[in-house]
Amino acid sequence: MPHDVVILGGGANGLGAARDCALRGLRVLLLERGDLAGGATGASSGMIHGGPRYLLTGRKVTRHAAQDSGTIQRIAPHLLFRIPFLLPLAGAGPRPTLRERASHYATEAFFSAYDRYQPLKRGKPSTRLSADELYRLEPGLVPGLHGAVTFDEWGIDAHRLCVANALAAKEAGAEVRCWTEAVALERADGRVRGVRWVDAVTGAAGLAEAPVVVNATGAWSPGLARRSGLTVPMRPGKGVHLVLDRRLCDYGIICQAIDGRLLFAYPHEDETWIGTTDDDAFGDPDDQEALADEVEYLLEAAASRLPAVRQARLVRAFWGLRTTLHARGPNEDALSRDHALIDHAGEGAAGLLSFVGGKLASYRAQAEEVTDRVLALLGRTPVACRTGELPLPGGEGPVDAAALAERFGVAGPVARRVAYRHGARAEAVLRLTAEDARLRLVVCREAGLLAAEVVHCVRHELVRRLRDLRSRCRLATGGCGGLDCARVAAQLAARELGWSAERTRAELADLLEVGWRERRAVLDGAQLAQEELLRGAHWGIG
Ligand SMILES: Cc1cc2nc3c(=O)[nH]c(=O)nc-3n(C[C@H](O)[C@H](O)[C@H](O)COP(=O)(O)OP(=O)(O)OC[C@H]3O[C@@H](n4cnc5c(N)ncnc54)[C@H](O)[C@@H]3O)c2cc1C
Repeated sequence: MPHDVVILGGGANGLGAARDCALRGLRVLLLERGDLAGGATGASSGMIHGGPRYLLTGRKVTRHAAQDSGTIQRIAPHLLFRIPFLLPLAGAGPRPTLRERASHYATEAFFSAYDRYQPLKRGKPSTRLSADELYRLEPGLVPGLHGAVTFDEWGIDAHRLCVANALAAKEAGAEVRCWTEAVALERADGRVRGVRWVDAVTGAAGLAEAPVVVNATGAWSPGLARRSGLTVPMRPGKGVHLVLDRRLCDYGIICQAIDGRLLFAYPHEDETWIGTTDDDAFGDPDDQEALADEVEYLLEAAASRLPAVRQARLVRAFWGLRTTLHARGPNEDALSRDHALIDHAGEGAAGLLSFVGGKLASYRAQAEEVTDRVLALLGRTPVACRTGELPLPGGEGPVDAAALAERFGVAGPVARRVAYRHGARAEAVLRLTAEDARLRLVVCREAGLLAAEVVHCVRHELVRRLRDLRSRCRLATGGCGGLDCARVAAQLAARELGWSAERTRAELADLLEVGWRERRAVLDGAQLAQEELLRGAHWGIG
């Protein structure tokens, strides 16, 4: 057989496992039916956290995530940024009553317990802030709060984390094929024999044979298994986030929703994200969208702490399905975030493993567990895992964005964005501007996107479609929806990939359609005008 293992799904878990399996000497093929991070990973809150909430449902999950967060910080330091959180302490009057004071102390005690996990992920211990201290930090908070408790977390660009894992897997010898869907699992004599696939871009189809197959297709895995007469128990939960076009706060703010659930509004890179809902999802994972009542639910919660949210500009909503372990009874918030690796040998499919549940924050450790099992199924001698020591692409060393800006004559903020997304490989991106001065063009000022970066991503980062550039360098995800950048990027990609005029136009239409799906739930009057301008620019003038 040409491969030792075929891995299905280009989310954090599938790509993490592909990297690990390849580093341990296996011949790996990974199939992703769309773009990298197109499932829960790209729709996540982007927190590489311990998750204080999980202390209530299982301390193991918090410890596991905090530990792996520390490791991810070492292997991809360029992609992580600190997000200190404030949990405001509220009360009915200007001074806390005895009962409220007791509740504030309980909150403080809870976060002292969480402090035990902070050293694992280089987090600072929690602090109790007085009301004065709180308003000095965040003057935009609603008046009348009694103070706050702080706790420390880390954010990440989950899309770039997936890109880095895909590149690392490829550099270690794995074959990574995007836009290639696994349509059926092949079985014979009680064993899995491989996977039938279809390439969505070329229409080609084939069979990838391997003695071991890992189904890491997230919320799609029960469906894929069902088509082959197998079962993957799961309780998928839908989560929606809203994106404001700028940072409204310097800290993450915990807000209480109308039903008592705790949500957050937090600075994510140069935007503010509000998230998230958590509702059982019974439908087709492909047939989801952000609904107007979910948007209002999130806005109402965020505005109860940060009133300026109501005046801010919502630019899009995004959503995804959590792949939570199956359980009857608990409500969605109370479900465990633990993970499981299902071995289908008992169902007549020896060699097939399905990954369910887990956290983005512990993806590397989860992938290590998957790889250990793959080696065991193949009957190989155990090989030590090195994914926690070897840097991911870009994490090889520190990068001095200011020096790069000066050396290549590009604006400081643009160099900083390139350095953030590409880490130590930023120099390779900027070197393109020295080779071709036209690539100095700033394609999008909002995302700090250079023509050189578009070209670099197309050449080196597994780009097959224009929309792949959304996850590589945030193309057309900002407030203007791609008014300036989409057409220029389409032309650059077309030149690199040899697209015809028809193909380029179809790719542009597809890119705008994906963005429209994310924007339509949040458009108000002024933004509908912006949307008209966008369409006019591309289909009228363009
Ligand atoms: C709203 C939300 C917020 C979250 N926030 C956080 C957070 O802040 N921190 C945290 O630690 N965790 C968070 N999580 C959980 C975290 O995102 C997931 O645990 C993790 O990303 C799951 O990764 P995965 O690779 O298993 O699945 P996915 O990322 O869903 O990847 C599955 C992939 O399989 C592909 N696929 C599907 N069918 C096929 C097929 N037939 N053939 C080939 N490919 C296929 C899909 O396109 C997809 O790319 C959140 C989840 C959600 C939904």
